[in-house]
Amino acid sequence: MSISKAYRPYFDRALQKIKAEGRYRVFHDLERRVGEFPTAHSYATGKDVTIWCGNDYLGMGQHPVVLDAMEHALHHTGAGAGGTRNISGNHHIIVELENTLAKLHQKEAALVFTSGYVANEASLSTLGKLLPGCVIFSDACNHASMIHGIGNSGCEKHVFRHNDLEHLEILLEAQPLERPKLIAFESVYSMDGDIGHIKEICALARKYNALTYLDEVHAVGMYGKHGGGVAERDGLMDLVDVIQGTLGKAFGVMGGYVASSARLIDALRSYAPGFIFTTSLPPALAAGAIASITHLMESNVEREGQQRIVALLKRRLSQAGIPVIFTNTHIVPVMVGDPVRCKQASDMLLRDYGIYVQAINFPTVPRGTERLRITPSPLHTEAMVEHLTESLVSVFQHLEVEMEKQIAA
Ligand SMILES: *Cc1c(COP(=O)(O)O)cnc(C)c1O
Repeated sequence: MSISKAYRPYFDRALQKIKAEGRYRVFHDLERRVGEFPTAHSYATGKDVTIWCGNDYLGMGQHPVVLDAMEHALHHTGAGAGGTRNISGNHHIIVELENTLAKLHQKEAALVFTSGYVANEASLSTLGKLLPGCVIFSDACNHASMIHGIGNSGCEKHVFRHNDLEHLEILLEAQPLERPKLIAFESVYSMDGDIGHIKEICALARKYNALTYLDEVHAVGMYGKHGGGVAERDGLMDLVDVIQGTLGKAFGVMGGYVASSARLIDALRSYAPGFIFTTSLPPALAAGAIASITHLMESNVEREGQQRIVALLKRRLSQAGIPVIFTNTHIVPVMVGDPVRCKQASDMLLRDYGIYVQAINFPTVPRGTERLRITPSPLHTEAMVEHLTESLVSVFQHLEVEMEKQIAA
């Protein structure tokens, strides 16, 4: 018994609170198997399931080019990095990864972190400390990692209504022009699947003397001719001061990064505790990431395959009356609007239909907007789309989730 009895009620109360709200999280015990993506084995049901909520958006996690590179690096350079970047952990392959990322985003330099979360937290908290008197403007839908980074910067913070340029301008205008400012926002918003107004926000930034910090986590690998994200697709990479991304989603591996000017990156490298005081990425991961990025810089097959299945799924769901939000991206949110039924729908899909879609509840999304967030990949088949559509219809009818009027096919 390690925890004294006296402390247990605190944890019990905390857990009871989220259980009462129907948002206690149960992790699904899965095993993905190479060659079978997006099918995985569920240890909860003892059966195979189709994953419809993965962030390995393009299936790069099983791509032979990535696996070969990782295997080679593993046997060539060993398991772990063996140190921080400063103390013996600065492997050549990590330097190469940073050069590849700088090239991908057409920036002077890039810096790799152990995850996208750490990249955001460390970069934003450090940037805020490096700019005396800085005020940070943050989109209301920004990811938790940015919110925590901004909080830890100690800077004055103003949250602007999601994607609301007028609100942002009112907040910017209220500050002295010479005061350091930073605007933090995303390109593809992960839960609603809508896109940030990059061009307009950068224009405001120029007008009011602000740095721009763009999270492209849900876009890198998937948008732009080389997978450089929405900023590449729209020809805006130049305008954005800092581009942040992950190696863990479309690139199928793990790690995070920022790309920017050589000076800004050098300052983060020198000051960010979340970069300095931690063991660097295992070389094999870096090798896998380089292989994945390089492959997706040249190949459009995966991106086109994904877009095709996304379009098909949106069409089929809406024809069947499923309350799907029509986004301009690969993210397909289906609204349930109630945490208990959202979880029930997810459980039924898993148990009765072999479909795994995680219920997304508060605090990941606002209360009342609980949803199933569906993320098709190029490896999902038309038959899988049909099966998902039919299963959702049965489950929603059973749970009396509000459906939309049937649209003729
Ligand atoms: C997932 C996510 C991150 C964190 O990236 P990880 O590599 O998973 O740590 C950052 N920003 C957004 C918007 C995300 O959805």
